[in-house]
Amino acid sequence: MARYRGAVCRQCRREKLKLFLKGDRCYSDKCSFERRSFPPGQHGQARLRKVSDYAVQLREKQKVRRIYGMLEAQFKKYFEIAERIKGVTGENLLMLLESRLDNVVFRLGFADSRSQARQVVRHNHIEVNGRKVNIPSFRVSVDDVVTVREKSRKNDMINSSLDAVVRRGVPSWLELDKDNYKGSVKSLPDRQEITLPIQEQLIVELYSK
Ligand code: SF4
Repeated sequence: MARYRGAVCRQCRREKLKLFLKGDRCYSDKCSFERRSFPPGQHGQARLRKVSDYAVQLREKQKVRRIYGMLEAQFKKYFEIAERIKGVTGENLLMLLESRLDNVVFRLGFADSRSQARQVVRHNHIEVNGRKVNIPSFRVSVDDVVTVREKSRKNDMINSSLDAVVRRGVPSWLELDKDNYKGSVKSLPDRQEITLPIQEQLIVELYSK
């Protein structure tokens, strides 16, 4: 699948927000946003001009797309599915994004970042309900059990991520059994449980134009 191959930290600077895309580094003083919290490029430090509604909506969409590491076409597909589900489209969109397997693997602490989680899933380290799943976009359901496969439990990357999950915490809609490398989906996340600074209605407005 196609993916963004440019400088990762540049995306945080572009969105003027720490998006936590690089795992441990994001919590250290090596984070480049801590040193240069202005947008990249020649005009990054130019005086702020009045921005249009469209620009605000676009930035919000780009921010969410970057947090979940998606390209435009894939993100738009999620929006279209969210529109077809009963309820509030913006909240449905966030619920769909959160219930992707790569995100769940990241949230449970089996990986340091969503991009690393994608790699962990693709490299066959994960099982869902006892069956190997190597599709990052796989959608988890309530009562699903996500485990690190037996043969992968000595993997250094997974173990160091699990040690670091304490700092991040596991969201209340998931339950982690760290000793058994196992996580359960207690419920699908509702809006209050997604604490990212996202104004999803701006994305709905953008796509509704
Ligand atoms: Fe963003 Fe992390 Fe890079 Fe900091 S280290 S700029 S939070 S990706």
